[in-house]
Amino acid sequence: MTDETAPEVWERISDTGIRVMRIPTPFQVGRVNTYLLEDEPLTLIDSGPNSGKALDELERQLDALGHRIEDLDLVIITHQHIDHLGLVDIVAHRSGAEVAALDLLAPFVENFGADAERDDEEAAALMLRHGISEEVVSALRQVTGSFRAWGSKAKVTRPLKDGEVLELRDRRLEVQHRPGHSPSDTLFWDEGRRILIAADHLIKHISSNPLISRPLDGSSERTQALVAYLESLKRTRVLPAEIVLSGHGEPITDHVSLIDERFALHQRRAEKLYRLIAEQPRTGHELAQALWGDVAVTQAFLTLSEVIGHVDLLVNAGYVREVEDGDVVRYEATSDTPADQLGDLIPGGNPVLSRG
Ligand SMILES: [Zn+2]
Repeated sequence: MTDETAPEVWERISDTGIRVMRIPTPFQVGRVNTYLLEDEPLTLIDSGPNSGKALDELERQLDALGHRIEDLDLVIITHQHIDHLGLVDIVAHRSGAEVAALDLLAPFVENFGADAERDDEEAAALMLRHGISEEVVSALRQVTGSFRAWGSKAKVTRPLKDGEVLELRDRRLEVQHRPGHSPSDTLFWDEGRRILIAADHLIKHISSNPLISRPLDGSSERTQALVAYLESLKRTRVLPAEIVLSGHGEPITDHVSLIDERFALHQRRAEKLYRLIAEQPRTGHELAQALWGDVAVTQAFLTLSEVIGHVDLLVNAGYVREVEDGDVVRYEATSDTPADQLGDLIPGGNPVLSRG
């Protein structure tokens, strides 16, 4: 974990009636942050995964704050990942709380099992196309199939529109759809207090993975997750936020410089990939291996998503193209521009470089 959060920051957060509860997950990311808004309605943001251990922890931590699950009036889902939404149904049943989520996300949450299965099918096809072996793909499908038990369906009773304001007694939260890490990433912006609840859109100690996912509108075209993510980050960058509360790790108090670091990281990674592609045409899997070596089966889709996201930047800028080669696709360079002369690859321009 990176540097600790100053006590004044925690004080400011709790003074506004926000309490963080860190719920264990079985995943590599570790604990997930859920937030309790001591307001009216009494609101829980995210729930932790669907496990007895997570439920026990949630109850214990609520109890330590003087509340019970039964007291909750509203549960908000920030995005579609199971470490965030797994317990929502149980919590809503026990409390009778309303369940709020982005309107585009509601069908996914309500059909959780079936939609997640379709996601896995498309992910498998994508992995094969980008050169990952059948053994790895089928091993990963078994793992993700069993992971699915940590998620759950839930009925969304309060669909949220992008841009609408959720009014609580003591605060107004603007709903901001900022896709990228997942297609449903939803931020909650308290302009009065300059606090942004951002879930996995921005995390202090790790760069959020732009995971490739099926579009929520049911269209079959693959979305460019990293491109969408960088566009979303730009919109967050201009918010005058003083504290950003993430889905994992510590609060962020300098989101502009953190976002600038992310832009620099993605630019460097795209240049590195370009260098590898310019050496010789390679599949997405070969590129992932060149960057990270042999990774655990559970990381195969994640690293492929990273590669494809960055190669999208190069394809969009005209430096690389996809070439079909039997059942797989390879990337090849279309120019002999040196990697350090590719220029700014951040869609719409890196705000740091264009500052003038
Ligand atoms: Zn997530």
